[in-house]
Amino acid sequence: MTFILISEVGPRDGLQSIDRVMPLEAKKAWIRAEAEAGVREIEVGSFVPPSLLPQMADTAELVAFARTLPGLNVVALVPNAKGAERAVVAGVHGMSIPFSMSETHSQRNVRKTHAQMIDEIRAIATIADGAGVHFAVGLSTAFGCTIEGAVPEDQVVRLAEASVEAGAKELSLSDTTGYADPAQVRRLVRKVRSAVGDRLTTLHLHNTRGLGLANALAGLEEGITTLDASLGGLGGCPYAPGASGNIVTEDLAFMLHAMGYETGIDLERLIKVRAILAKALPGEPLYGFTPDAGLPMGLEQRSAA
Ligand code: ZN
Repeated sequence: MTFILISEVGPRDGLQSIDRVMPLEAKKAWIRAEAEAGVREIEVGSFVPPSLLPQMADTAELVAFARTLPGLNVVALVPNAKGAERAVVAGVHGMSIPFSMSETHSQRNVRKTHAQMIDEIRAIATIADGAGVHFAVGLSTAFGCTIEGAVPEDQVVRLAEASVEAGAKELSLSDTTGYADPAQVRRLVRKVRSAVGDRLTTLHLHNTRGLGLANALAGLEEGITTLDASLGGLGGCPYAPGASGNIVTEDLAFMLHAMGYETGIDLERLIKVRAILAKALPGEPLYGFTPDAGLPMGLEQRSAA
């Protein structure tokens, strides 16, 4: 049986894209419950300045808490070397920096050119190596950008190579804008892998236009072994009001189990975790089909076999 890592990013990506701030105790209950349902990796927050993202102000406390949960890989997003230093002090197992493949998007969001971003990645790699912390680069807007539109695939390949050369241990391709389609996923994963090999492990997908699971499947068929997802598809898309967030953890876990992949997750327990979100964020839309429909008869026996 092939193991696929589902990396829960809801506490970071989901919560940063809604305005409300989830209380620390609710975040802890969410993270604990998911870990107990068998989720092996959770991105608990982001080390951005709290003045920019008050939703993420308690990330250091969450890292310390999550580190007490057995078997959980605790990761956080870092925007720059300064954030990486804070993440290391907090005690993360791993950290990742988003690197926008669209230079206009990069300049507008973090006021850095691609060359300046490579310097930042090199600086973070040094910090990570010194601390024995895993370091990944998320190639964001890899499938298209709301400012530039299409992003040339050769540019993504070149920047993937530059990221590895600068010290990234692992890469993910991020469909930040929900533009990706399965043929494009297949093509880009293949191209990037032919340049950097299995350093490319991960897809970060949004379900903005309903193609999230189709894109995940295309990635799996090209050898992707880690998929980011968010419980209840929490969050939205700043570029598409009303759209859902990341691919839904519950639906992704269902698809993988049904196909015979191993995730370590107990689906029934995972679905129950939604109650924590519903209570802490009343009225916030939660997405997903599997939680409403329930599991098909015999699925649990099949995945346990
Ligand atoms: Zn995202």
